[in-house]
Amino acid sequence: MATTSGHSFLSAAPSNLLPNHRTNPRSTNNTTVVSFSLTPHPNTKSFLPSAASAFPAGSNTPYLIGNTPVLATPATITTALEMEPAQRLKSGFEQFKKEVYQKKSEIFSDLAEGQSPKFLVFACSDSRVCPSVLFNFQPGEAFTIRNIANMVPPFDKTRYSGVGAAIEYPVIHLKVENIIVIGHSRCGGIKALLSTKDDGTTSTDFIEDWVKICSPAKEIVKKTYGDLPFEEQCTKAEKEAVNISLENLKTYPYVKEGLDKKTLNLYGGYYDFVTGDFETWEAS
Ligand SMILES: [Zn+2]
Repeated sequence: MATTSGHSFLSAAPSNLLPNHRTNPRSTNNTTVVSFSLTPHPNTKSFLPSAASAFPAGSNTPYLIGNTPVLATPATITTALEMEPAQRLKSGFEQFKKEVYQKKSEIFSDLAEGQSPKFLVFACSDSRVCPSVLFNFQPGEAFTIRNIANMVPPFDKTRYSGVGAAIEYPVIHLKVENIIVIGHSRCGGIKALLSTKDDGTTSTDFIEDWVKICSPAKEIVKKTYGDLPFEEQCTKAEKEAVNISLENLKTYPYVKEGLDKKTLNLYGGYYDFVTGDFETWEAS
């Protein structure tokens, strides 16, 4: 597996993420990966409402860690969370319009004519892992698909047409150049996957059926790391599930064609919001 060093993906890496190299901790595939310490560059300007930022001023630690109730979060973000919902949306948009839309009017003029994002990003719907926050993506930079546990189902016109359409459009019509699937720490969807019953019975309408997309990841983890504590198994599965999704992406004919013609690059990623680390690796 090649390293991502020197790749165009890296040259496009956001300036507020400081890269360093290390060995992928995934024992099933000992490859060199590039990781980022999520340390905001001192000159990086936040274009997001301050109440929605993942980092309090002067801190390298995200506000929201763990699955604690939102009202247990620090006072600085609690203030925003306690706002009346309509008022929160109104003040958030006003801040965006003042700090982003009006200051970068040329970007929005161009975007009014069309979009040509370089990235197609799969991320979890988890409120703690917004890709635009993590990578400081600007409007027009990333076409984003978010779902439970950032999973990519295999090509299937009848069961997964929603995901299929969201892949077909950016790959064929927008001609994105990079696809990245991002897993994350303490993912509730992955916990659900590892908790699915072997007899096939379910207790939810949709969740268990959905996360079973990455059942092969569960099998790998149970077989290889079955003696680890459940939490550590979940961490392993969070990464293995990304690899399953990367393989599933190759079942979409236009993705495979892009990979064959080298017009598309495919990456896995993992965001640990407990330690504030991000790593990425190239799909094999
Ligand atoms: Zn998740």
